[in-house]
Amino acid sequence: MTRIASRATDFERSGIRVMFELAEEQGGDLVRLEVGEPDFDTPEHVIDAAEQSARSGETHYTSGAGIPELRTAIAERMTDETGVSFDPERHVSVTSGAMEALFLALSAIAEPGDDVLIPTPAWPNYRNQARLAGATPVPIPLSADDGFDLDPDRIIEQLSQDTAAVILTTPSNPTGQVYDEDAVREVVEAAREYDAFVIADEVYDRLTYGDDYRRIASYTDYSEGLLTVDSCSKTYAMTGWRLGWLVGPEDVISAATSLGESTTACPSSIAQHAALAAVTGPQDPVHEMRAAFRERRNYLVNRVEEIPHVSCPRPDGAFYAFLEVSELGGTSADVAERLLSEYGVVTAPGTAFGDAGEGYLRLSFANSMERIELGLDRLAAMVEDERN
Ligand code: PMP
Repeated sequence: MTRIASRATDFERSGIRVMFELAEEQGGDLVRLEVGEPDFDTPEHVIDAAEQSARSGETHYTSGAGIPELRTAIAERMTDETGVSFDPERHVSVTSGAMEALFLALSAIAEPGDDVLIPTPAWPNYRNQARLAGATPVPIPLSADDGFDLDPDRIIEQLSQDTAAVILTTPSNPTGQVYDEDAVREVVEAAREYDAFVIADEVYDRLTYGDDYRRIASYTDYSEGLLTVDSCSKTYAMTGWRLGWLVGPEDVISAATSLGESTTACPSSIAQHAALAAVTGPQDPVHEMRAAFRERRNYLVNRVEEIPHVSCPRPDGAFYAFLEVSELGGTSADVAERLLSEYGVVTAPGTAFGDAGEGYLRLSFANSMERIELGLDRLAAMVEDERN
């Protein structure tokens, strides 16, 4: 007899995973544009710091909230970037990636049955994590006609006494959009009226291509209810190190840390020392990576403009373009499957990010310029074949 709990089987299958498996099965010369992580190596000085920490015996459990030096570095960075004063001991908990930060935050604040509002298209793990925390994920579809701009009214309509949190991801995965500050402010002010938390997922904060990106904490005044999630994964090309953090009010940080202590004890000590080097060391690798992503983004957007029947808004951040393909036949999953099976390009169907993504594909530009160019050549060939 096998006893598998329904919470482990309730998940909808991830549309990104489906494409990944189809691609693995198919093999051959594929252009992988479904990837959700930087194609750069972790900076050398970060690897050196990890090696040194391991060799010098920093290989034991740490405090559940993380090593004090790293918490201090994170608090200082947050204070510098937002003008809000964060205390390392009270306001920062280090976690195993942004994923754990999100899960602990949701588990710490949501009672069973509470709502978690998720503007969509959105990263699919929010829905899964809200469910695991016993809460009800409530997708709030944004309008494709407005380029998936954050529409405060749609969110405010759904706020109630049962709302535990609203998750705002800026820059967004999958659209690459940086939300308008006034729109965010409206949502934050409305959430405050219901004592609902706002979770700001800002893992792509350093990968923005304009000059005007600011963290939500810097332009809203809701320190009692704003939780910021960040990590080394995207900023420092460190997805495999599993190192992130949660920053917010003392009671939530303390509750989230206790939950983390019961599940993982603490994040990897070696990864914490690596993160300390990443956060406090030279930032040139980040600037170089951002410059490369910007160049690829510009190429991709300009190239898409030349291809009839498809379009995409210019992403402000992250490394994704959300391509409208509704003029090609079938659902976005159909289009993604044809693009893979007949043209060898792997993408993620927009519906992997919620129903609001129907008619779209997410293209990642975390790949070399040559591969992106080849991927777009193949996309252009598909459009030509299907529309002529
Ligand atoms: N939030 C968003 C929006 C993401 O895209 C990702 C990674 N794909 C994460 C969080 C998770 O990041 P981490 O690797 O730090 O757990």
